[in-house]
Amino acid sequence: MGVQAQGFVREGTRVVALQTGAGDIAADAFVLACGPRAPALATALGLRLPIEPIKGYSITVPFRAGVHRPRASVTDLARKTVFAPLGGRLRVAAMAEVGATGLSVAPARVQAMVDAVAQTYPGLCALDDPVVWAGLRPATPTSVPIVGRWRNSNVYLNLGHGALGLTLAAGSAAALSQQMSQQMLRPH
Ligand SMILES: Cc1cc2nc3c(=O)[nH]c(=O)nc-3n(C[C@H](O)[C@H](O)[C@H](O)COP(=O)(O)OP(=O)(O)OC[C@H]3O[C@@H](n4cnc5c(N)ncnc54)[C@H](O)[C@@H]3O)c2cc1C
Repeated sequence: MGVQAQGFVREGTRVVALQTGAGDIAADAFVLACGPRAPALATALGLRLPIEPIKGYSITVPFRAGVHRPRASVTDLARKTVFAPLGGRLRVAAMAEVGATGLSVAPARVQAMVDAVAQTYPGLCALDDPVVWAGLRPATPTSVPIVGRWRNSNVYLNLGHGALGLTLAAGSAAALSQQMSQQMLRPH
């Protein structure tokens, strides 16, 4: 944890170690699962990944006392905005910016989400001090994730889950670990 992967040590077609800021880490197999930053790391393997970051934002705001709170998450397709109750707070997620790489948040983005709450749920939340977040969705051109072995190597990919990486994480991990278990029992 807290260590940057920088490159790979190779012997022929096999990767034998990961180069990191804390020294090399040897292993039998490697899973590339570093989201939108995977393409940069993958170039060290000669692998070009069709993954682009799509930036999005959320604000989280507390419900006011005594209001009727929504019980289910609501997606407003016209606004491309999700309103999700989380305990005593409402989380609002929105926006899709192609090509952005940093995590800065423009005030206009926050205001647009605050306005969306005010217009959709008047009086529901205290809107004066939203908790703001930005993230990068690792997206593929078709939105289909890339999960599986890279060529005939001992490198595996678990990438490109776009807007659904939390939803799909357990399923992708289960599918990939099953594939790895089967293939690693056979010689490369
Ligand atoms: C506004 C917004 C709302 C979203 N809402 C939802 C939702 O409701 N449901 C849902 O399912 N998904 C949602 N997503 C999408 C979800 O966040 C992503 O699909 C998911 O985070 C992708 O997971 P990942 O592990 O592939 O990549 P990441 O979450 O980006 O994790 C990659 C990790 O790799 C690390 N890393 C990168 N490079 C290196 C390196 N060289 N060495 C070491 N570590 C490295 C990073 O630090 C990071 O911890 C949302 C995204 C956004 C932006």
